[in-house]
Amino acid sequence: MDTPVVIVGTGLAGYNLAREFRKLDNDTPLLLITADDGRSYSKPMLSTGFARNKDADGLCMAEPGAMAEQLDAEVRTHTPVTGIDPGHKRLWLGEEAVAYRDLVLAWGAEVIRVPVEGEARDALLALNDLEDYARFRQAAQGKRRVLILGAGLIGCEFANDLSLGGYEVDLVAPCEQVMPALLHPAPAAAVQAGLESLGVRLHLGPVLSRLEYAADGLEAHLSDGRVIACDLVLSAVGLRPRIALAAAAGLAINRGIMVDRQLRTSHANIHALGDCAEVDGLNLLYVMPLMACARALAKTLTGTPTEVAYGAMPITVKTPVCPLIVSPPPRGTQGEWTVEGSGGDIKALCQDASGALLGYALTGAAVQEKLALNRLLPALLP
Ligand SMILES: Cc1cc2nc3c(=O)[nH]c(=O)nc-3n(C[C@H](O)[C@H](O)[C@H](O)COP(=O)(O)OP(=O)(O)OC[C@H]3O[C@@H](n4cnc5c(N)ncnc54)[C@H](O)[C@@H]3O)c2cc1C
Repeated sequence: MDTPVVIVGTGLAGYNLAREFRKLDNDTPLLLITADDGRSYSKPMLSTGFARNKDADGLCMAEPGAMAEQLDAEVRTHTPVTGIDPGHKRLWLGEEAVAYRDLVLAWGAEVIRVPVEGEARDALLALNDLEDYARFRQAAQGKRRVLILGAGLIGCEFANDLSLGGYEVDLVAPCEQVMPALLHPAPAAAVQAGLESLGVRLHLGPVLSRLEYAADGLEAHLSDGRVIACDLVLSAVGLRPRIALAAAAGLAINRGIMVDRQLRTSHANIHALGDCAEVDGLNLLYVMPLMACARALAKTLTGTPTEVAYGAMPITVKTPVCPLIVSPPPRGTQGEWTVEGSGGDIKALCQDASGALLGYALTGAAVQEKLALNRLLPALLP
């Protein structure tokens, strides 16, 4: 039998690549390996589950067995890859060696852990996959007060979702505004006001320094001396690409696993895509770029070397209390921001010296202008 194409990871990157591959090749054996339970789900839906009252089973789209059948592939679940041996074209599952024709790393990004002191520090929960989500829902049963760490996109989405789900939410982050890496201050203020209108209490500036057990739950001690009573703490301080195993195997890494436009790593027959990959210098932790990569890589793996191109890729942030779409200016560009609108309806545009649109952020009613503006945006990887 032929040596299989091996995909590590059954997230959106792994499964979409497998689907695109099968559209072009019905014969080559395909093996998917994942550390988790292998269920197919859409990760972006994890931050909408409380408002829609969906548990982990409700968010699952297909069991791994059904995926295996659909993809005519073998899917090995609960099977962490522990090493790669590029010289012999094989990888390690503990003691077991698995040979590959081509290897694709689609193993995602991992949660950044913040150092926290205190007896209850292990009560900190993170939420980066469906199994985390099941655990979090279990822990949240019968509870009322959630403290969220991090005011990035994911922290804000969870704050919105958990308050719609009936929880009291405090959000702590050491920054001056929400989504500081992504967003101009004016639309950030609109989102913040929206969250506050739901009753979310934002504590911007301090960090969580200590977590202790209290008589009825937990006590979060912030670095500015404030103490917040809560039942659960959800850490959403950010993700970073999984690079350790790639680095140990001698693959070139930077922020992510470095790949060129054909998604090739520094080693022959090893590719990467999705949250773990840094594509021509860009590590974008979103679905749109990974879909473009899956389509291009499927062609390359089936004999037509194909480069990926990214058009504009605006990000829809799921804070329904204040709808937000943002398209940050591409790296290396210089522009000036202008802000129109007021209250929850903000249109912030970033333009270069010639007036060409580089990026935008739209909130509230202004999101209606996205289609017209999208046509004017520059491509991220032309
Ligand atoms: C709450 C939340 C909301 C989001 N909302 C949006 C949104 O609205 N729009 C958007 O574009 N993006 C959104 N994103 C980002 C988007 O979900 C991710 O970019 C995308 O899902 C990443 O897919 P992936 O397949 O690269 O990684 P993952 O889904 O993380 O999959 C990684 C896979 O690799 C496996 N794995 C890891 N290590 C190993 C190992 N050593 N051996 C074997 N298997 C391994 C894992 O088990 C898993 O199967 C959101 C993310 C989160 C967390």
